[in-house]
Amino acid sequence: MNFTVTTLGSSSAIPTATRNPTSLLVNMNYRYFLVDCGEGTQIQLRRFHFKIQKINHIFISHLHGDHFFGLIGLVSSFHLIGRKDALHLYGSPLLEEIITMQLKATETDLIYPLIFHTVDAEKPQLIYEDEERYVKSFPLKHSIPTTGFLFGEKERPRKMKKSFLATENVPVEEIPKIKAGADYINEAGVIFRNKDITISPPKPKKFAFCSDTAYHEPVIEEIHDVNLLYHEATFKSDLEQVAGEKLHSTAAQAATIAAKAKAGALVIGHFSARYRELDSLLQEAREIFPNTWLAEDGKIFYVRDLQ
Ligand SMILES: [Zn+2]
Repeated sequence: MNFTVTTLGSSSAIPTATRNPTSLLVNMNYRYFLVDCGEGTQIQLRRFHFKIQKINHIFISHLHGDHFFGLIGLVSSFHLIGRKDALHLYGSPLLEEIITMQLKATETDLIYPLIFHTVDAEKPQLIYEDEERYVKSFPLKHSIPTTGFLFGEKERPRKMKKSFLATENVPVEEIPKIKAGADYINEAGVIFRNKDITISPPKPKKFAFCSDTAYHEPVIEEIHDVNLLYHEATFKSDLEQVAGEKLHSTAAQAATIAAKAKAGALVIGHFSARYRELDSLLQEAREIFPNTWLAEDGKIFYVRDLQ
């Protein structure tokens, strides 16, 4: 399955000349999920040559402006370009009030359905699923109700060995059972063990998004064994106290969470505008979790199995 994460914005509250506020685009086998929508996100999507109409689901972690001030702009653009498909928004119950008020004030009567899904910031929740994928939310520790998101592939059926299908005339109705793990008995009574006639599917992969949050060990249970973790790293360790007061994390704390969760790889982002260069944050994280990368705007990360 094609599974990638594109950074659209890697800055914290104040954007810089090279860093937009938070937003990520998750591609799970060509189903696109937008995670947070800071100011300018729709411009970033165009800048990186993405067709915005492909987005049907937007997840908002919390209602600090740097995570959703771009949403009404994107919702409005969809209207102006003649969108027909429903757009699903996931977030705080207040999000519906805010967007509804903005549409009312601008006398915009949307020509497409806008569907709100309330996310409970108090407990983990399954908020989306289809035949191949699911999305879960889980609580983070921040100054207002905030959730992280886990994007996961579902277990796929086993694959039939071509050599087996070529030699045995398997009735069509038996195939789904074999793919689900059953043995096969032919007309002559010969038993074929499932492991001999099928191939294991690839292990399902997971990506977790944790922004914004103070160092918060309860998230480890929610994100355990993810192939890729995005964790905020607003500050360096010399400002650990400030990070604690503002309920943000340092690069070292992000790396500690990645290590304890046994993540495959870590992407750090949500950098304070005070940092012109980010290498020192990267080095700080790599001392604890070597497979760490910077979430620079436009960069694409592959969610893959490292084993
Ligand atoms: Zn915040």
